[in-house]
Amino acid sequence: MNVKKKNIIIGLLVLTGLMVYLFFFGKLFSFSPIIIGFEKHELTNTIVYTQRGMSFSNYEKIDTLIPVVEKFHDLKYLKKPEIFLFVDSIGYMRRSLSKARFWTLFFNSRIFGSPWALKDARSGRISLEIYLKHELSHSLLHQQSCPIRARKYPKWLMEGIAVYSSNQMGTSVYPDKSETYRLIQAGNFMPPDYFRTTKEEKMRLELENRATFIYSEFACIVDYLITTYGKNKFLTYMKILTKNNDHDTIFKQVFGIDFDKFLIDFKEYVVNNENPAKRNRTAPN
Ligand SMILES: [Zn+2]
Repeated sequence: MNVKKKNIIIGLLVLTGLMVYLFFFGKLFSFSPIIIGFEKHELTNTIVYTQRGMSFSNYEKIDTLIPVVEKFHDLKYLKKPEIFLFVDSIGYMRRSLSKARFWTLFFNSRIFGSPWALKDARSGRISLEIYLKHELSHSLLHQQSCPIRARKYPKWLMEGIAVYSSNQMGTSVYPDKSETYRLIQAGNFMPPDYFRTTKEEKMRLELENRATFIYSEFACIVDYLITTYGKNKFLTYMKILTKNNDHDTIFKQVFGIDFDKFLIDFKEYVVNNENPAKRNRTAPN
């Protein structure tokens, strides 16, 4: 064997070793078809993977969330959502593509839960049920799209639907509807199109918790759309966007109003609304 051939073989072996490491223990873990270091619990509606060494017993509770999420969205999961729960922080940071408490991968609709999220759930700081319903909403919408469209789904709407459908406003650190309205009345507003773009950071907001206000603001927009135009129209809009990313055109087609004009109407409504708690909110179901 000449030196050149030997170097190619060594190179290929190193590359294979690196790929195996990345898929099993590194940043490609969320894409990995083979899962190592986790116990698999296949339930009626979900598959939950718990990291080895973790004590967890709420599997049945998680499984009951699926029909609730499907009912709100009027959609069915095309495959059982896969939920990965971690107990080891270093392992999570090594494998996870996000530092968030929970997150969902648009590519394959898998859900990941951090060790600190589970700790917060155990101590009662957050509701595991609400946070999972939030992620399950993302997972369900991702499953209805191809990866390219899932990635391009309007991010503000994706979060607004998740917060609204999981009843997250007013829980944990998320302001409720009244408080969100009050903060908008005080001059805070994140234009939906700015969300997760460079423009988002440049937007000045006078807030203690900027991120949760933005999520609640988007949920309030979803709430306003549903109460103003009806849930059926809202679901039509939500579903078309899983197949077609031309948001502003679809918005105009479904609601008969330009998105920009609608946002002006929404802000005007909020500013003139003294006590939003008085306005009956359509409870998600
Ligand atoms: Zn989310």
